[in-house]
Amino acid sequence: MALPRQSEDFPAWYQEVVKQADMAEPSLARGTMVIKPYGWAIWEVIQRAIDDRIKATGHQNYYFPMFIPAHLLEKEKEHVEGFAPEVAVVTHAGGEKLEEPLVVRPTSETIIWHTYAKWIQSYRDLPLLYNQWANIVRWELRPRLFLRTTEFLWQEGHTAHETAEEAIHEARKVLHEVYLDAVERVLAMPVRAGRKSPSERFAGAEETYTMEALMRDRKALQAGTSHYLGQNFAKAYGVKFLGRDGQEHFAYATSWGVSTRLIGGVIMTHGDDKGLRLPPALAPIQVVVVPIYRAEDEKALVLEAAAKIAAELTPLRVHVDDRAEFRPGYKFNEWELKGVPVRIELGPRDLDAGQVTLARRDVEGKQACPVPEVTARITALMDEVQDSLFRQAVEFRDAHTFRANDYGELAKLVDDPGGFVVGGWCGDAECEAKVKADTKATIRYLPLDPEPAEGDCLVCGRRATEEAAWAVAY
Ligand SMILES: [Zn+2]
Repeated sequence: MALPRQSEDFPAWYQEVVKQADMAEPSLARGTMVIKPYGWAIWEVIQRAIDDRIKATGHQNYYFPMFIPAHLLEKEKEHVEGFAPEVAVVTHAGGEKLEEPLVVRPTSETIIWHTYAKWIQSYRDLPLLYNQWANIVRWELRPRLFLRTTEFLWQEGHTAHETAEEAIHEARKVLHEVYLDAVERVLAMPVRAGRKSPSERFAGAEETYTMEALMRDRKALQAGTSHYLGQNFAKAYGVKFLGRDGQEHFAYATSWGVSTRLIGGVIMTHGDDKGLRLPPALAPIQVVVVPIYRAEDEKALVLEAAAKIAAELTPLRVHVDDRAEFRPGYKFNEWELKGVPVRIELGPRDLDAGQVTLARRDVEGKQACPVPEVTARITALMDEVQDSLFRQAVEFRDAHTFRANDYGELAKLVDDPGGFVVGGWCGDAECEAKVKADTKATIRYLPLDPEPAEGDCLVCGRRATEEAAWAVAY
């Protein structure tokens, strides 16, 4: 079945790509999904990219349970209020009603900080630099595969520090050295790093740092967040340590996470009317070889040449599509839909001429390549396609980042053509709420470091305190 065109029905296009590229499908319980092998293979590459960087920046992995006694969640007031509408609760187990209900973790600050009270006694125990890979449950009323699901997979880092400065430094370091680096270099997804406004902060955070990407329907996607939690959780769970000054202090916290939502981000950052386009660093299959033959006597020769080329291309992730029951044209479409970055076509005529035909997924057209040069050419193409997809996404994002001079322009631009719209904001939550009510756009990010803004608030005309970037978001 042909894909809907992006320009005509983007949500339908997205849904069909996920389905036809065989990445995931909805499951039985509301909002849950089955991640199929092709989608899982992409997740594994994302996990590896993030996990390598988490460890390279000095963190270790551990694992906490998914059930949290309900009273624990209630200790941090802002946190429990923020998550209450989304929380799933187990009331019965073992054939009986439980004395105390168990919350299925919507995030793990509560149980982790309860435990840190035992682990942290002295400044010598600090910092704690830990992370876990886990599943999370947040009851989702409007589920969409990868973007919003009731159960999703993520990593959550939870660190404890002696000082506020150290914790803030940690939260920002993870944003840049782990998230931004992995997402831009491996996923080829350009992001803007910034701070959230108070109304968009994580429940219980003093400051939320975010990276925001722009999708091809010109809506923003929050691709990852890193929070400075101050002493809120240490105070709620009694995490005190004996400081260098001989006094007791509450520890300072950070938490940070990215999730399977990134897969949705990749689809909507790079995909086109033919389907997925995967950057080589992320693609589970980087090169597909399609042998073309008609007669049986051609078959052995072509398959042998295909196997030889594939063997020479290791350690690249190469797949030879030797399925006899499908015609080459069908295979081309399928691998284009699945976003494989480079395709090698190989038939008797190519072999006679001592060449193969190469097709890139990021640009139109084919090129011939002499057989002895295939390895060098393909190796170079891995970088070229990676850079080209990143550059295309940067150009799209920049072409859809606007400056508004007044409220009318802001309201117009976030709707048509859509994208990031930058302008002055007075810092007042009422102005922010008015924009949201009028246009559905929210403040996606504020500058990482507050800097004095020139001019007036786009909404109320009072003096602006900083520049905000608005957009309609997922
Ligand atoms: Zn204002």
